Amino acid sequence: MESKYSEISKNIQEEAKKLLSQGKVERIIGFGRGVFTGEITPIFVTEPERAEELLFTPECDMMLAKYLLDYKGSKTGIVAKPCDTRAITVYLAEELIKREDIFIIGINDCEGLEENDACEECGVRNPVVVDLEIGQPREEEIEVEIADELEDMSPEERFEYFQKEFSRCIRCYACREACFVCACDECFVDSNQPQWVGSSIGKRDNFTFHLMRAMHMAGRCINCGACEIACPEGINMRALTKHLYRAARDVFQFEPGLNPEEKTLFATYRLDDSEQGFLD
Ligand code: SF4
Ligand code: SF4
Ligand code: SF4
Repeated sequence: MESKYSEISKNIQEEAKKLLSQGKVERIIGFGRGVFTGEITPIFVTEPERAEELLFTPECDMMLAKYLLDYKGSKTGIVAKPCDTRAITVYLAEELIKREDIFIIGINDCEGLEENDACEECGVRNPVVVDLEIGQPREEEIEVEIADELEDMSPEERFEYFQKEFSRCIRCYACREACFVCACDECFVDSNQPQWVGSSIGKRDNFTFHLMRAMHMAGRCINCGACEIACPEGINMRALTKHLYRAARDVFQFEPGLNPEEKTLFATYRLDDSEQGFLD
């Protein structure tokens, strides 16, 4: 296993060096070791001599796509796991970034990450959009089922479950920062005119924050698990977003982040749309 990751890292370094030396990109967003902690962290490489700092390991659990929003209009390379390429695909479909501004170094045959439960439910193990592939693509499809804890609960049981779960939330917003979908210029929690939700920690405001955030995820969340990894309280917020993911798939035959040409769920309208709601 170790040698597979060393080989991937070596290939990324070689390709990154070429891209930077030839001026094909201005920077490469990837993973490397933090200077003080030595832990895997996002890094931004602009000189070919620094390409050897780029690494790929099973600890590369942050989603990097969100950083592309900071570099609109200048050619940026990105080291992308398949889920990162799904995030990029959502951004392309929502016209938040331009395809010509990015160069995607995609990792084939992703084996999942060490501490991400969502990987067990991931059936997309090759990049969806890519300019340069690292490793051989996985040929056989993976059969996965996205578990839905809410399916067998009554509305009252769901309410009780989330009241309890969200009561532990300290409103640090690490989940929001980690999630590529949370990319609004001004988040509703930071707005005070109008004020959608109070900033205090309490049952009602916590619940409102999570419910409103989940509504913004419908048809956009790709179930990457980055929000839960970031949460210091271990809150199971994917119980809610997975329910929405399954509803988008089962009711509207829509899975986000698979086709950059396809409009996102809430940007389409059909006369024969089902009247079934997301929270049914
Ligand atoms: S969610 Fe899928 S693509 Fe992303 S790291 Fe996990 S297994 Fe790989
Ligand atoms: S699982 Fe969904 S809500 Fe959580 S970080 Fe990924 S896209 Fe965002
Ligand atoms: S990361 Fe966890 S504790 Fe922080 S706001 Fe999100 S759910 Fe609450």
